[in-house]
Amino acid sequence: MNTVAKGPEFVVARAEGVWLWDESGDRFLDGTSSLWYCNVGHGRTEIADAVHRQMSTLDAYTVYNDFANVPAIELSERLAAHAPVVDPRVILTSGGGESIDTAAKLARRYWYALGRPDKTHLISRTAGYHGLNGFGTSMIGMDRFRTGFGEMVRDTSVVPHNSAAAVEEEILRVGPENVAAFFAEPVIGAGGVYLPERDYFTEVARICHQYDVLFVVDSVICGFARLGNWFGIERFGVSPDMIVFAKGVSSGYLPLGGVVVNGRVADPFWNQEGNPFVHGTTYAGHPTCCAAAMANLDILEREDLFTVSLEVERHLDSALRGLEAHPLVEEIRSGVGVMGAVELTEEALTERGITTAEVFAETRARGVIVRPIPKALLVSPPLVVTWEQIDHLASTLYGALDAVAARH
Ligand code: PLP
Repeated sequence: MNTVAKGPEFVVARAEGVWLWDESGDRFLDGTSSLWYCNVGHGRTEIADAVHRQMSTLDAYTVYNDFANVPAIELSERLAAHAPVVDPRVILTSGGGESIDTAAKLARRYWYALGRPDKTHLISRTAGYHGLNGFGTSMIGMDRFRTGFGEMVRDTSVVPHNSAAAVEEEILRVGPENVAAFFAEPVIGAGGVYLPERDYFTEVARICHQYDVLFVVDSVICGFARLGNWFGIERFGVSPDMIVFAKGVSSGYLPLGGVVVNGRVADPFWNQEGNPFVHGTTYAGHPTCCAAAMANLDILEREDLFTVSLEVERHLDSALRGLEAHPLVEEIRSGVGVMGAVELTEEALTERGITTAEVFAETRARGVIVRPIPKALLVSPPLVVTWEQIDHLASTLYGALDAVAARH
């Protein structure tokens, strides 16, 4: 739970590039870009300057009805120009979960507008993470996020993430006439860094097309150069009906997210008074957040972090492979995108009672931040990380695993 009310706290006081400092002045390597978002690294004064300029011009004004603002228009046009979506339109929000709910509602509303109100079912995948709003919580592929909330959104189901055939089977089980959309991350992030099987996305795109099911890509983690391109899914050569984005669009300097929607899906609603998509939020198209995003995208382009990212990806992959030999390690998952998972063996987790939280604490005590999930440690450093820093991250993790192993 995100709370600052009580409990053990690690107070981050300052950040610069890939480094964080706590209150006592100790320095840590940010091996996670906070929560997968700080793609350009911390402390970019260009973004701070752009925010200051925008705040002094037009601080805030919601995009709704026929109200717009210049940064929101410019950002939408820029994103549309790079999105692998046919005839793209952009809806802006304040974050990932809100965007997932927007895409889910839009998918259902689209079929309703076409006179097919029963086409409501949403299919997602095991280990998939789609934020914690209503639809997102209902579509998460990890039980611990879904239990204890009573009945959530109906007409949702989860299929194994590594099988395109499972998507088709589920569509046929539910009945294509009832299925609105299929949601997938290009590379599963928070659920444990699972890379898609070969041809997975070509196959699911074909299946969705065959059964008239909208194909929605959740690029909240994979976008904005983390996979070496704008929206992550370009890597797999398919064109979805919607792409959900957030995080790296502004490198998290200010909250921002959104959905790129293909024209076919958007058309029933775009500027059509008779058939409105009644949905929106107060901070949609917030001009200061959009200005931060524009300055962030300038950095990505100017420093060509799209290309740099592919080199970082290779180096991170080979550094993490060095951990494969460690006796506590079951598997390394990396090699697509600047992200990786170091999964611990069942023997370590169950028989020896080692927890990933303990490895995380040991790693942090040695000055490196990684992220523990139940069976693995995740890494996703800023894209400006150097080879030396990547090696430092991997060797610190190795040393932490040794220290934890010695205690059990
Ligand atoms: N989708 C994915 C793939 C994510 O990783 C996240 C957050 O980690 C979200 C959606 C939710 O985004 P937010 O936390 O901004 O609501």
